[in-house]
Amino acid sequence: MSRKKGGAQADPRWTYRIEPAPGDLRIVQALIITGTPPYRRGELSSSRALTDWLRRWGLLSPGSELTPADVEQAASVRSGLEALVRANRGPAPAPEMVELLDRAAVAAPRRTRFAADGSARVEPVDGGLTGALARLFRIVALAHRDDHWRRLKLCSREGCGAAFYDFSTGVTGKWCSRRCGNRGSSRTYRERRKRHLARTRGDRRSR
Ligand SMILES: [Zn+2]
Repeated sequence: MSRKKGGAQADPRWTYRIEPAPGDLRIVQALIITGTPPYRRGELSSSRALTDWLRRWGLLSPGSELTPADVEQAASVRSGLEALVRANRGPAPAPEMVELLDRAAVAAPRRTRFAADGSARVEPVDGGLTGALARLFRIVALAHRDDHWRRLKLCSREGCGAAFYDFSTGVTGKWCSRRCGNRGSSRTYRERRKRHLARTRGDRRSR
């Protein structure tokens, strides 16, 4: 059986027609996608919907109750992460976006715990959204450490803008999928042709 590089067929949580990022980085990718118009399905429309979404991705401690303020906080963290991903193909992110994320990360600490068998693990200090964000930020930090973060980008096609993982060797990918690539490149072709024709007309006139 052939498996896609990101394991699209292997991960039942992944329901988008975009290749998922490797490992847990796809959770960050999925969060950003929930804010992208063509894929928006109301994941952050209520505390109930957010609870379901965080559970699906294993981010929420059992028994956590979320509030409307949590939904607002999740949406602002999503905008911050989207700004960082956009910056992977453009100018540096706005300082207020970085500050927003830094404040949220400082408020979502982790600690080491020893279990009865002597094994140790690092876990979020708090439950609820704060704990979920602690897990999410760890994924972001690990992606930076492993140099995967810069491969997370937003699709260039106007009207899409979905988050995708650039698997290309030179990290030169622009589109979330072949579908967007085909539409995007034919649009670029049309625009280039139009510019070229305008230029040639201009040349003729100046002669
Ligand atoms: Zn796209």
